[in-house]
Amino acid sequence: MSTSSSPAPIPRPGILDIDIYVPGESKVAGGVKPIKLSSNETPLGPSPKAIEAYNASAKDLERYPDGQATALRNAIARRYGLDAGRIVCGAGSDELLTMLAHAYLGPGDEGIYTTHGFLVYRIAILACGAVPVIAPEKNLKTDVDAILAAVTARTRVVFLANPNNPTGTYIPIDEVRRLHAGLPGHVLLVLDAAYSEYVRRNDYEAGLELVATTSNTVMTRTFSKIHGLAALRIGWAYCPEAIAGVLNRIRGPFNLSSSSIAAGTAAIEDRAHEDAAIAHNERWLPWLTSEIERLGLPVTPSVANFLLMHFDGVGGKTAATADEFLRGRGIILRRVTGYGLPNALRLTIGTEDENRAVVAALAAYLGKTPA
Ligand SMILES: *Cc1c(COP(=O)(O)O)cnc(C)c1O
Repeated sequence: MSTSSSPAPIPRPGILDIDIYVPGESKVAGGVKPIKLSSNETPLGPSPKAIEAYNASAKDLERYPDGQATALRNAIARRYGLDAGRIVCGAGSDELLTMLAHAYLGPGDEGIYTTHGFLVYRIAILACGAVPVIAPEKNLKTDVDAILAAVTARTRVVFLANPNNPTGTYIPIDEVRRLHAGLPGHVLLVLDAAYSEYVRRNDYEAGLELVATTSNTVMTRTFSKIHGLAALRIGWAYCPEAIAGVLNRIRGPFNLSSSSIAAGTAAIEDRAHEDAAIAHNERWLPWLTSEIERLGLPVTPSVANFLLMHFDGVGGKTAATADEFLRGRGIILRRVTGYGLPNALRLTIGTEDENRAVVAALAAYLGKTPA
């Protein structure tokens, strides 16, 4: 029997329209250990207490985990003063974003995200057979009026990363409230606050109060960034009670491993480690921004643990050739062509040595010596 003529399973409409997500790369030629600044991972690593808890979890691997992730939800609730009953944990916030899409979007429905919004939103929307609707940004920043103008009778979900990846820009909580106020009550507003811990701005809030006081706002958070546990896949959502009930119905009954629950619980309780990561970022984000701008590369002002540098109009230089040059020196940044930014590179804030190495390599690429 020829395989070409035999019938084969056909996926639902929309699924084959998905471009497979391409993660930040981690290898360079020559087998040398690269300086990897391509996935917004923390240069400080996880809390030693989280590693200890992870190691201790190895002695009970034959047991199913607590399907409620009770210890982790309680620790998160204590840390932020929340109702643990409205926290739902996921295998990374990616899983929660995907579950939210599957719960609230069907064929023909519309999900909105912004021009340079996180690509997982597009994937999640298409996977449900729904239609991705892109709201334009203004100067690489969320434009609330543009999102509101994109709302139609078919809109069911709005995904907003605040701060956004890969731009690093944010909108103040007043603007988020204005966005919420302009949405019909049946439209779900998903606030993805993956980088919120890093933001040092008086007019910023991750959105906890909006979740607590409205019936159609969900906030997602992650342990992959400031807590340094990307490998373990831990995220959480704070939800209205009814939405928590929906997510708890559709999630895998044991969607977090015991090791993830143990490490995550220890991580969120280690405030000193989190504070150290914030202090490190506060020192090196402005330093990298000004050093790179001094080399003649415009940088989008960032409030997160990464920044976006631009090569437009920099005499014959491009993101592609810069990337190639840096790789030759063992340094991996993130190409962001898939985000509609073909001539920019995203740089994660690294250790002091890594940051200095990046500036030196960029200076060499541009034919300049660093100040
Ligand atoms: C990194 C990131 C996440 C986190 O994803 P996890 O699945 O929790 O690792 C979520 N949203 C944005 C915008 C991110 O950049």
